[in-house]
Amino acid sequence: MIRPKEPKETLRFSGIAASRGIAIGPAYRYFRALLYAEDHELALSDVGHEIEQFDSAVRKARQEIEKVRRVAEQKVGTPASSIFEAQMMMVSDEFILSTIRQRIKQERKPAAFAVDTEFSAHKKMLEASESPVMRERADDVEDIKQRLLRYLLDRQKWLSKLEVPSILVAESLTPADAILFTQSSMLGFAIDGGGLTSHVAILARSLGIPALVALHSAAEHIETGDTLILDGERGELIVCPDPETQRGYEQEQSFVLGSGVEALGLIVEPGEPLARTADAREVKLLMNLEFGSEVAVLEAERLSEATATADGKKRLGLGLVRTEHFLLLHDDFPTEDEQNELYLNLAERFYPAWVTLRTFDVGGDKVLSGTYREDNPFLGWRGLRISLDEPDLFLGQLRAILRASARGNVKLMFPMVTTADELERALAFLQEARNMLHATGDAYDEHMPVGIMVEVPSAAIMADSFIPMVDYVSIGSNDLTQYTLAVDRGNDLIAPLYQELHPAVLKLIRGTVEASKRGGKPISICGELGSYPLATPLLVGFGIDEISVSPTAVRSLAARLRLLNYTECKELTDRLLAECVSPEEVKRQILQFLSERHLIDVFSETTLRSGFGARLIKK
Ligand code: PEP
Ligand code: MG
Repeated sequence: MIRPKEPKETLRFSGIAASRGIAIGPAYRYFRALLYAEDHELALSDVGHEIEQFDSAVRKARQEIEKVRRVAEQKVGTPASSIFEAQMMMVSDEFILSTIRQRIKQERKPAAFAVDTEFSAHKKMLEASESPVMRERADDVEDIKQRLLRYLLDRQKWLSKLEVPSILVAESLTPADAILFTQSSMLGFAIDGGGLTSHVAILARSLGIPALVALHSAAEHIETGDTLILDGERGELIVCPDPETQRGYEQEQSFVLGSGVEALGLIVEPGEPLARTADAREVKLLMNLEFGSEVAVLEAERLSEATATADGKKRLGLGLVRTEHFLLLHDDFPTEDEQNELYLNLAERFYPAWVTLRTFDVGGDKVLSGTYREDNPFLGWRGLRISLDEPDLFLGQLRAILRASARGNVKLMFPMVTTADELERALAFLQEARNMLHATGDAYDEHMPVGIMVEVPSAAIMADSFIPMVDYVSIGSNDLTQYTLAVDRGNDLIAPLYQELHPAVLKLIRGTVEASKRGGKPISICGELGSYPLATPLLVGFGIDEISVSPTAVRSLAARLRLLNYTECKELTDRLLAECVSPEEVKRQILQFLSERHLIDVFSETTLRSGFGARLIKK
């Protein structure tokens, strides 16, 4: 007799609500799996193309390995970089390569399958060796195999396998994976790692998908198909809920869906600025765009259209375009023309509003798979540092951006600037890119504004020396917080220590704003602090000119700004920075300020921010 499956016991996990909303549905348990290839017989007419694909994958692999080897040699010296030399030898081993070509040709095997089986056989042979050195080489063979498979298999197809709308559960998730999964039917995601400002969390907010991070060890208790309730309002994940709990959540879900930011109504009257305080001080609003996701672009575009002037002129532009998402999605560097097409498309869609293109900020938690691994990636080879070390890549991107600037609504921004020397070198590259375009007769905006992100404490402290070299400054509070407090923004174990309202962070922000004012340059903020309701009075009080937030946060920010008075906010910030020594005191003073003005309810999105100590609560 077949017994019905035992109902599983209900489990509750508490984490950090990274993106609001409630999702109910089956779990899809995602493992960042190694790639494998399937076998099938190629049509005779496909053989030539398959060999070309294989040769191109080998060429790409060699280029990438050489790039990584050069960097490794520069950073860690020859002994460590010899790993990559060994990898290079393997990917150039004519015996293996010609065996693979033969198998494609004679056995009509797909290139990926031939690569998989040949390199796996080679790996097995090394693993069986008596010599420990040879055994270690087995990992390198796996690395090369994975690299080639990545080039040969269509990653998008490989990842988009959510057959039914599901809640994704994983130990960790890269921003690129998250974008790909949203292209199939992901209802939300819940991950063990991450923090409120880890990139995957920012992405979820930007795409409006409910998400939980910092669940520590929830994933191992969940199987594909388990019913889940993802509570992005309270930071809870309920596994196999009882029917009564589920009904309650279904009711709440329909309420939450029906009372989104849309309920705040349109934010502008024709002829009025997008946002200003009660005492008529204008604060410009902009949006952060998660590049690479058409859903995100459409949402931003829709908002920009909804807030256009009566004669259809768009005013709501983009204050931060994270161009590196393109790289992460494709696991490869796009060509100058490919980039130009994408940048131009944005410049046209938002014209005449500004589009701020930030040069690639790879590194930290935004890593290309298979690149050189670092012990301390956030303090490592990241952002502008990579661009300066890779002139061809950097010049290609600068030319692509400059060409897109021809219509006059593009701004350029450099991330992770740490020293004045770096900025000088970046500007010299920019000049070189201009000269190249001049020589080829390509059009570009000679007055394209160039700015930097202030997101490293050294840049905030030395802001006076950077400001004369740029046209504007944008504060990256996400990184500024992690570097000031020495708290990794994506590490779930220390998530409660990540305090954007710490007076040390606020003093650096205020110092940067003051330096910008002294230098007569506009100052904006594009970190997540911009959408943190409790921070709004402080940003107003500091006198920040522009705030750039994800499209989902624009309306509520505009509504909050309308309720504040600049003079009062300034008094608050002055007092607070003179008196407070802890983030708790800062919060207390802000709450008191809001409560005296009966504004607590409007600023109550703060529930999103409470850092729950993640723990397993068994019923
Ligand atoms: C920041 O650091 O605040 C920022 C906006 O950049 P990112 O989140 O992409 O590091
Ligand atoms: Mg940053």
